[in-house]
Amino acid sequence: MYDYVIVGSGIGGSLSYAILKKIGRKVALLEKENYLGGCSGTFKRKDFFYNVGATTLVGLDDSMPLGKIIKFLGVEKPPVKKLELPIVVYLDGKVIKRYSDKQKSLEEIAKNFPYKNIESVWKNIYHIAENNWKNVYKLLPINFKNPSLMLKKIATNRRYLLYNLPYQFKSTYKYFKEQIPSIDKTFKDFIDHQILITSQGYSQDVPISVGSMGLTYNNLDNYYVYGGMGKIFDSLIKEKNDVFLRHKVLYVKKMNGYFEIKTNKNVFYAKKVILNKTIWDYAELLEPEYKQKMHRYRKKYPKRWYALTIYFSIEDKNNLIQEHHYQIIHEKTNPYTGSNSFFISLSDYELGEKKSVTISTHCKNEFWENLGKNEYYEQKEKVQEFMFDIMKQYIPAFKECKIENVMVGTPITFERYTQRYSGTVGGIPLIKDYIPFRYPSNFTEIEGLYLVGDSVFPGQGWPGVSLGVLNLLLQLENILEILD
Ligand SMILES: Cc1cc2nc3c(=O)[nH]c(=O)nc-3n(C[C@H](O)[C@H](O)[C@H](O)COP(=O)(O)OP(=O)(O)OC[C@H]3O[C@@H](n4cnc5c(N)ncnc54)[C@H](O)[C@@H]3O)c2cc1C
Repeated sequence: MYDYVIVGSGIGGSLSYAILKKIGRKVALLEKENYLGGCSGTFKRKDFFYNVGATTLVGLDDSMPLGKIIKFLGVEKPPVKKLELPIVVYLDGKVIKRYSDKQKSLEEIAKNFPYKNIESVWKNIYHIAENNWKNVYKLLPINFKNPSLMLKKIATNRRYLLYNLPYQFKSTYKYFKEQIPSIDKTFKDFIDHQILITSQGYSQDVPISVGSMGLTYNNLDNYYVYGGMGKIFDSLIKEKNDVFLRHKVLYVKKMNGYFEIKTNKNVFYAKKVILNKTIWDYAELLEPEYKQKMHRYRKKYPKRWYALTIYFSIEDKNNLIQEHHYQIIHEKTNPYTGSNSFFISLSDYELGEKKSVTISTHCKNEFWENLGKNEYYEQKEKVQEFMFDIMKQYIPAFKECKIENVMVGTPITFERYTQRYSGTVGGIPLIKDYIPFRYPSNFTEIEGLYLVGDSVFPGQGWPGVSLGVLNLLLQLENILEILD
């Protein structure tokens, strides 16, 4: 009998496994694919390595959640290169370099958006974000279902909470508009699409408290991972005896004081189970009487984005495209996704002078639902053509590169590979409707059954999901020293 069985090896499942192993728990990790990582994994096709979804890595620094976990585990950091220029943004004839260095980054903002007080307004953005990062660990663990815990947290963190309160209830757009009444559409597009990739919402909906963290994402420690994002999981999980790949979990059954977990290959027994599933689909694995709450969640959190990706390789003989990450914000709305921006990430040279590329964009599901087979394949070609045209228009160097091995990943593809509800991307949007009080929690209606992943703790990707894992495990185990 295991102490814990973890279903799914995304960031949430893999970090939970590594921490629980480290403190001596008997734990198994079950993953349906043949690689770890889910949306942050890396898959291989025709000798190229492609990142499934996540391409940017922040937070190996000891002050960040992932850095703290790596320090606690005592494992070596993954093979990475620090990026001085994490993202280059193309927008309305501008090329905005989002440097890691705060002063350089500020100068770039001021150069591209020369409003009179932009520097002081942006400096305050730094301040709000830094304060959040500094205080977040003191707030952990958060559990709105535990009033006495929450009252204690409010009492011990009241200074920070009072400072943060106005920023929690003011939208990012309103914050800027109040201080710079003349902000124009280009600036709004810029902030909208910067925070969309971290918060899953636009500036009028995302509170400035959260928006500030998205706007300063480039100022955190950003890395390129050699060999693809999936390499991180090799660093985190050294001991693979209890990692079971190609094990698709078919059901999780609550028995008398323990759980039975059946996969396509075996049956496991555990005292506790952690599901690395979304709030919209976790109960698909449970018995019918538990599905009601999940259906309620689907109605309660209807605002969600879906993923559309394009994977391909390029031959870039003269290294014309040198940075790893670009964001294009375009005027014409993508007729196959409903989005106005996409993100392009390139690897270093692989296989001689070739690079692997992952493009990703937010997508509305309705564009891909209910299509006939032929229509679906035709639409894949159309979306590729639309996005490649824009890519070549904004970054003409792509015209000089031979493009090969193109694969389009739709929300349907995402659902098939990651099992995420309808191919959802990045969890529940960090918008005023949901945070801070209406966000779901790591705890389910079944005692001993918990959730980790990007829909059960505010924040997605490496920083957000790592925090969510800490939030859960701090309540289940004595691991306070991890926060040191
Ligand atoms: C296109 C895209 C781009 C992104 N870009 C970035 C980025 O640049 N930087 C960043 O930090 N974040 C990024 N994100 C967000 C980030 O990838 C996610 O927030 C994060 O990876 C989610 O982790 P998770 O723990 O929720 O697990 P998931 O990624 O959802 O993984 C769940 C895992 O569980 C497995 N699983 C599910 N059901 C079963 C079952 N029944 N049996 C066995 N296994 C099962 C799946 O196969 C999967 O491996 C991006 C996401 C997407 C989709």
